[in-house]
Amino acid sequence: MVYPIIKFPDPILQRPSDPVTVFDEDLSRLVDDMFESMYLAHGIGLAAPQIGIPKRLTVIDLSFQKTPEDKITLINPEVVTREGKIFEEEGCLSLPDIREKVARAAKVKIRAQDLRGNWFERDADDLLARAFQHEIDHLDGILFIFRISALKRDFAMRKIRKLQRAGDW
Ligand SMILES: [Zn+2]
Repeated sequence: MVYPIIKFPDPILQRPSDPVTVFDEDLSRLVDDMFESMYLAHGIGLAAPQIGIPKRLTVIDLSFQKTPEDKITLINPEVVTREGKIFEEEGCLSLPDIREKVARAAKVKIRAQDLRGNWFERDADDLLARAFQHEIDHLDGILFIFRISALKRDFAMRKIRKLQRAGDW
């Protein structure tokens, strides 16, 4: 099943999601549906609140279906350590057409549960580190436009209102 992507300023995107506690077939199906919805929307990362489900669950595939090993499912993820800082452009399926540079840790170690509920750790740098931080932010109710300067955020808000008025949002 393909879910529509929820856009800013829907309040579900701006509140913390609840931990996943049940690791069953419904969860596996939801993860499959999230990958399907993400690919259809041409995204490389999708968090459950973006499809209206306030659970701490996210899927990522930086290769966009090219390499199966790049399909990553993170359940109840958290950042364990952060190192360095980089400033690169980001986008978000919930903020179409908005791209801004966001400061993120250059390297992170995260821990998360898999579909069976087993905890694992993973180190990441570059784009994957950025994707982990962006998606975990979603689970905490934080969108990337709240990590940029007030001036740039005002500019983004104006663009969003313009798109809304034109019926393109
Ligand atoms: Zn996003």
